[in-house]
Amino acid sequence: MTRVYNFSAGPAILPEEVLQKAAQEMLDYKGSGMSVMEMSHRGKEFKQIIEAAEANLRDLMNIPENYKVLFLQGGASLQFAMVPLNLMRKSKKADFVHTGQWTKKAIAEAKKFGEINIVASSEGDNFTCIPELDPATFSKDADYFHIATNNTIYGTAYNDIPQTGDVPLVADMSSNILSEPIDVSKFGVIFAGAQKNIGPAGVTIVIIREDLVGGAAEDVPSLLNYQTQVDNGSLYNTPPCYSIYIAGLVFEWIKQNGGLIGMQKSNKEKAQILYDYLDCSTLFSSPVQKTSRSMMNVPFVTGNKELDAEFIEQSSQRGLKTLKGHRTIGGMRASIYNAMPIAGVKALVSFMKEFETNKGGGNNV
Ligand SMILES: *Cc1c(COP(=O)(O)O)cnc(C)c1O
Repeated sequence: MTRVYNFSAGPAILPEEVLQKAAQEMLDYKGSGMSVMEMSHRGKEFKQIIEAAEANLRDLMNIPENYKVLFLQGGASLQFAMVPLNLMRKSKKADFVHTGQWTKKAIAEAKKFGEINIVASSEGDNFTCIPELDPATFSKDADYFHIATNNTIYGTAYNDIPQTGDVPLVADMSSNILSEPIDVSKFGVIFAGAQKNIGPAGVTIVIIREDLVGGAAEDVPSLLNYQTQVDNGSLYNTPPCYSIYIAGLVFEWIKQNGGLIGMQKSNKEKAQILYDYLDCSTLFSSPVQKTSRSMMNVPFVTGNKELDAEFIEQSSQRGLKTLKGHRTIGGMRASIYNAMPIAGVKALVSFMKEFETNKGGGNNV
C-alpha cells in the first residue's frame, strides 16, 4: 500500500490513525456486529458517538456553556442561507467583509433576505490580502457581521478578529477551524463544512450562541430553523452518521496530539517551512501579502503557466498530489491542514528545490 501526500483543499487529507481506527471498526463497531453506517441514529451506540463528538469538540475549542453545537447537513454553503434566515430579525441588515469567492457566495445568498453592506473588500487587490477595516463603516443596527476567517482559494487569513460590539460576528471557519486556539465568545455563530479540517464531507458544524436561536420567521422551513435543530439535538431527521463518527475520531486524534495548541505549533512550523522557501526562491513566489498569509492554504506560482503545469505533473508523479490551484485562479496551492504531517511539507519543498535547480534557478539552495 502506498499513501501519497495529498495537498487537496477539500475534501482533504485525514489523519492516518483515524482511517486505521475506522477500518478496524468497519465491520463490527465495538461488538455491535454492525458498521456505524448501518446502525440506527436513535440507538445507544450512535447516541454515544454524537455525544462524545460534541463533548470533545467543546473541550478542544473551550466552547462556553451558552453556545449550542449542531451537526447539520448542506455544507457551509447552506449556512450562507440559514444565517440570514435565522439572524435577520430586526433591521434585516448585515455587514460583510468581502475577501473572495466564499464571501461572494455568502453575500449573494444573504441579499435574498435583506440589505447587505460591504464594509471592506480586497477585490481590488485580487483578494491577495485581508482589507483594513474601519469601524466607522460598520452598521450599528446590523443583525450580524459576516467574515470568512480563512480564504481557502486565495490563501489569506485574519490576524485580528474584527470588534463588532453588540453586533453578532458570524464566521465561516470552514478551512481553519481547529487549526489554532480561538476565543469562541467573540463570535455569535461559527460554522464549518467538515471536509477541510474536520472529517468527511456531509457534516457541517455550527456553533451558535443561545440567544441567536429562535429568531427565524414562522415560514422558515423546519430543517433550516436552528431552533428545530437545537430542540432535537441535531437529530430532527437522520444526521450524516458516518461523517459525525469520523469527525469524532478526528477530535480524539487532535486531543491526543496536543489539542489546538499542539495543532497551532505544528501548523506554524509547516507554514514557515513553505513560506521561508517561497520567499527566497527565484522560481516560485507567493502572491499573498505577507501580513495576510494563511497557515492552511498556500498558493504559489512560477509566473509561467506552462511551467506551472509541468510542476503539477511532475510533483504528482512523486506522490505530491492535488497541488493544482483553484480552477478560477490557476497556479499551485498546497493545503496543509492539521492532518498533513511535517514530512509532507518537507517533501514538497525538497521537490520544489529540485525543480527550481532543473530549471536553471536555485542559486539560493
Ligand atoms: C469549502 C468552503 C465553503 C463551501 O463549503 P461546502 O461545504 O462545500 O458548502 C465555504 N466557505 C469556505 C471558507 C470554504 O473553504
